[in-house]
Amino acid sequence: MTKVPSAETLAAFAAIVGDKGVLTKDADKTPYLEEWRGLWHGKTPMVLRPSSTKQVSEILKIANAANCAIIPQSGNTGLVGGQTPNGDGSEVALSLNRMTRIIEVDAANDSTTVEAGATLKSVQDAAFNAGRMFPLSLASEGSCRIGGIVSTNAGGLNVLAYGNARELCLGLEVVLADGRILNGIKKLRKDNTGYDLRNIFIGAEGTLGIITAATLKLFPQIKRYDTAFVAVNSPNAALELVSKVKQQAGNRLIAFELMADLCINFAVRNMKQKRPLQSPWHVLMELADATEGQLEAMLESAMEHGLATDAVIAQNDQQRQDFWSLRESISESQKPEGGSIKHDVSVPVSKVPQFIAEATSAVSKFLPGCRFATFGHMGDGNLHFNVSQPVGMDKQAYLSKWHAMNEIVHDIAVKLGGSFSAEHGIGTLKREDMQRYKSPIELDVMRGLKALFDPNGILCPGRVLLER
Ligand SMILES: Cc1cc2nc3c(=O)[nH]c(=O)nc-3n(C[C@H](O)[C@H](O)[C@H](O)COP(=O)(O)OP(=O)(O)OC[C@H]3O[C@@H](n4cnc5c(N)ncnc54)[C@H](O)[C@@H]3O)c2cc1C
Repeated sequence: MTKVPSAETLAAFAAIVGDKGVLTKDADKTPYLEEWRGLWHGKTPMVLRPSSTKQVSEILKIANAANCAIIPQSGNTGLVGGQTPNGDGSEVALSLNRMTRIIEVDAANDSTTVEAGATLKSVQDAAFNAGRMFPLSLASEGSCRIGGIVSTNAGGLNVLAYGNARELCLGLEVVLADGRILNGIKKLRKDNTGYDLRNIFIGAEGTLGIITAATLKLFPQIKRYDTAFVAVNSPNAALELVSKVKQQAGNRLIAFELMADLCINFAVRNMKQKRPLQSPWHVLMELADATEGQLEAMLESAMEHGLATDAVIAQNDQQRQDFWSLRESISESQKPEGGSIKHDVSVPVSKVPQFIAEATSAVSKFLPGCRFATFGHMGDGNLHFNVSQPVGMDKQAYLSKWHAMNEIVHDIAVKLGGSFSAEHGIGTLKREDMQRYKSPIELDVMRGLKALFDPNGILCPGRVLLER
C-alpha cells in the first residue's frame, strides 16, 4: 500500500527537479488534474516535471523507498482516467512534458529516437523534414506525447496499413519502479535475444515503468493521397465495400472510417463542418500512392454493385483536409448534445454489422430515445460506439447509467469474439471489465508481472488491475 508523501519526501522530489520542474500552486497544477471532457478531477501535492531520465530515476528511487504513488503523465489526452491522480491528494503527478527532444532521425535506418515528452506532431514533423513519414495519426496528435502513445498502445487512423504503436516501436528506455534504468533503445528490426521486455511496457499504461525515450519506425513519404467520402446504405454495405477495396488496393488502402449519419449531423450543427453527402451511413476512405483514376474506378464499380450510393472524391488538398476535419471533429461535436456514454470496442471486421445491430437494439431497449453516434476505424474492426443521451433527459441521470450500459455493449462485443477496449486502454474506467472479461489465468499472470516490476505498487496504483 502506498502512503501519503511526507514533507521530507516532497522536499526531496523538489530538490531533484529544481524550481523549474515543480508545480505546487493550484492554478499551475490544474491543467494536469483535469481531463478534457471533465470526467476526472484529481488532486496532487505537486506536479513534478523532470528534464532528464536521470531525474526520473532519482525520483523513483525516493518514491519507492517512501511508498509514494507516482502517476506518469505525457499529454493528458488519455480517455480512461489513467493519467489523473486520484482525488485524495496522496499521489504525485510526474509529467514528461519537459523531455521533448528529438534525439535522432536515422533516415537510412528509417527510424527516429525521441524523448517521451515529444508530441506526436513534433515527431511527424521531424520525420517529414528528413524525407520520411511517421504514420501514427490521431485527432489528439498536437497534444498527445510519445510516452502516452506507447503506454496506451495507441491506434488511430492508419492502423490498417501501419499497425498500432506497438508495431511502430523498435526500442524503449524505461525507468523501473526502483529507479533502475532499462536501456532498450535499439534500432533493430530483428533481435531474437530472449524475452521481449519492450512489449511488456507497451500498453501497460504506466503501471510497470516510466517510459523516458523510444525508437520508432519511419516509412517512405506518401506522394499522393486519394480520398473519398462515400455514401453507403448500411454497415453491411460498408463491410462489403472494405472487403472489395482491400482486395483491389492491398496495402495502398490506409484508412477506412465508418460514420453514422448522426455523427455528421452533430459535426455540422456543433462544429460548423460541411456535409459532403446525404446518406444513413458514410465512409471516409483513403488510398496512398494509388495510380491515377484507381479510386474513381473502384468507386464506380462499388456503385454498380450496389455497395455505395454516392461518393465525392477530394479534388485538392483543402477538400481532403475538410473531409478529415469533419471526421476528427466527431468526438468533440458530441459534447453540446449532453451526456455521451462511450464504448471503444473491437470485433472481427466481419462482425461489425452484427455488433452495431445487436448493440443498437439492446441499448434502445435498455433506455429508449438514446441517440447513436457510432463511428470508428472499420478497417480494423474498431468502433467508437458512442451513445448520446435522449433529448431532454437530465445529463447526470443519464451518465449514472454508464456502467450498466457498458456492460450490455461489452457483453455483445466479447460474445462476438471482440474486445471491450480496442485502443484507449483500461485506466480506472475499465478495471471492473478486466475482472468480468479476463480469465483468472490472465489476471493471475498480469498480477505476477506487476509484482515483479513494481513490488511496492507505487506506479499508478489501482489502474488497469484493481488493488486487492
Ligand atoms: C480527441 C482525441 C482523439 C483520440 N483519438 C485516439 C485514437 O484515434 N486512437 C487512440 O488509440 N487513442 C486516441 N485518443 C486517446 C489516446 O489514448 C491518446 O490521445 C494518447 O495515446 C495518449 O497520449 P498522452 O500523451 O496524452 O497520454 P496521457 O493521457 O498523458 O497518459 C495516458 C496513459 O499513459 C500513462 N503514461 C503517460 N506517459 C507515460 C510514460 N512516459 N511512461 C509510462 N506511462 C505513461 C499514463 O499514466 C496514462 O495511464 C484520443 C484522445 C483524444 C483526446
